Order: sequence, then C-alpha cells, then structure tokens
Amino acid sequence: MTDRIAFTGLGNMGGPMAANLVKAGFAVTGFDLSEASRRQAAEKGVRLAASAEEAAAEASVVVTMLPAGKHVISVWGSLTSVARPGTLMIDCSTIDVDSARKAHALAASQRLHSLDAPVSGGTGGAAAGTLTFMVGGTSEAFGKAGAILSAMGKKIVHCGDPGAGQAAKICNNMILGISMAAVSEAFVLAEKLGLSHQALYDVASTSSGQCWSLTSYCPVPGPVPTSPANNEYRPGFAAALMLKDLRLSQEAASASGAQTPLGAHATALYEAFDNSGHGSQDFSAIIQHIRDLTA
Ligand code: NAD
Repeated sequence: MTDRIAFTGLGNMGGPMAANLVKAGFAVTGFDLSEASRRQAAEKGVRLAASAEEAAAEASVVVTMLPAGKHVISVWGSLTSVARPGTLMIDCSTIDVDSARKAHALAASQRLHSLDAPVSGGTGGAAAGTLTFMVGGTSEAFGKAGAILSAMGKKIVHCGDPGAGQAAKICNNMILGISMAAVSEAFVLAEKLGLSHQALYDVASTSSGQCWSLTSYCPVPGPVPTSPANNEYRPGFAAALMLKDLRLSQEAASASGAQTPLGAHATALYEAFDNSGHGSQDFSAIIQHIRDLTA
C-alpha cells in the first residue's frame, strides 16, 4: 500500500517538497496556517486538510517543515497524540538540537518512529528534488524513510542518533557563514589593492582558497553568473536565515562547551547586517557590510 503522507508547513521549502512527494506518486494531505501556502500546494496536487491533526490521523508518515524549534514542539505535541502507533514522524525544519531531541521524545512516548532530517540546498533544491538530507534517529526509523526522502532529495546521510541531523546542519552552516564572510573580506581587500574581481576569482577558485561560497555564491557580480550578486542580492538564502543558523551554532557551542571564535564573529557580522535592515537580502550581500566597515 502506498504511504499516505501528512505534510505540515507548506512554505517556501515545504510547498515544493510536498509537490515532489505528489510527483513521486504518494498521496499527500497538507496543512499550513497561511492561505497562500495552502492554495499553492493544492495547485500542485496536495489534498488540503482542515488541520494538521486531521491530516496526521489518517497518515502512515508525518512530515513537518516549520520555522523554528518552538513551532516543531508545539505541532509535534498535538500530532504525536493523534498519529496511529507505528507512524513515522519526520521533521525537516532547521531547529536547535535540544528541541529536536524533545520532539523525538514526544514521538517515543506514543510509540511512533521519528527522524530529524534537516536539509541543505535551498528553495532551488527543494523545487528540483535535489536536497541533501542530514538525518538523526534510529536505524529502524531511517530504514523506513528511504523512498520518501529520495523523492525530495538526492543525497541522504544517516548522521547518527536523535538530534545528529540538526547537529550536522548547524556545523555545516557555521562553515558556510564563516566562509562567506572570508570570501567577502578577500574581495574587499582585493578592491583596495587594485586587483580585479575576475583575477581573484580565477586564482582562488583553482587554488587553496576554493570553497562553495566562492564558486557557487560568489558575492560579487560577474565571475559566477548564477550567483545572487548578479540579481541584486535577491535570495537565494536570506541573511536572516543565515543569522538564525549561526545563532543555533552559538547556542549549541555554549551548551556543549565548544570554542567557536570564528562562528561567534560571523554571528556578530550577520547580526549587525540584519539590524541595519538587510535581513531579507541574500546572505552573500554581507560583502556590502564589510565594504561599509572598510569605508
Ligand atoms: P517559510 O516561512 O516559507 O515556511 C514555514 C511555513 O510554516 C509557513 O508557510 C507557515 O505558515 C507555516 N507554519 C508555521 N507555523 C505553523 C503551524 N503551527 N501549523 C501549520 N503551519 C505552520 O520557511 P521556509 O523557508 O520554508 O523554511 C522552513 C524551514 O526550513 C526553516 O526551519 C528554515 O530554517 C529551513 N530551511 C530553509 C531554507 C531556505 O532556503 N528557505 C533552506 C534550508 C532550510
């Protein structure tokens, strides 16, 4: 029998992810608080429910894609009490490790299987079905999720026990925030030294400075035509979301006792950028902030 999937949180990421599940042949019932998100999902073949609970009560798999930990805890609190025993619960939101573990505990208390499965790849990857999933949870739960995660992504990594997916996501995005700041600083220094953007790109992209922030999301227009810098820094991946992930990394660092001085510095840079009203720009626009510091 085909799994019936209940999908809650049909926003920028969840909407296209649910659409890919429909495309793969799953029966998907969805819910979102926003009328616009519900309408867009319905246009892609998602059957709408009157509430998240109504969708979950008849599903064998429940997927959530929500803004933050408090939303996940609140939604999982009610969904785990209506889901049938044996249901697989998958949260794909990016949230703090503690909330992820609490969500797993809610599921375990009702004899449900559960996974934290945050994603990398942005709205483009969500639409194309090419997301990377970083998954935490038991091997048994992971074993049940293969077909579902494969319908939405192309790389699926079982990172370990409950919470390990969120831990991987936070570590990865701390690298990303730091590396974007580093690449931006290098371009600002090059400008001061009279070195062209293209020359720095041609050297660094084939040298030891090579990284994703340079070769996929180059923060200056020109060298990488598809990067948001060529499109007035429209996201892409918004600076406010980068700040959210960097803050999660710093909460996790202080809770675990890890020292992450560059992570702390990147968080401060993105906080200042967000405070000056630029949170909705792509995170590569941090180069503007670094130029302003220089000026
Ligand atoms: P979004 O704001 O577009 O979507 C979130 C949706 O959740 C909204 O439509 C909102 O109405 C809905 N929602 C909130 N509370 C709800 C509730 N109680 N019941 C039902 N629906 C509810 O956000 P997004 O960009 O889709 O991001 C979702 C998650 O994915 C976040 O945790 C984000 O950090 C993560 N993420 C985003 C990206 C990205 O590029 N946008 C990339 C990777 C991960």
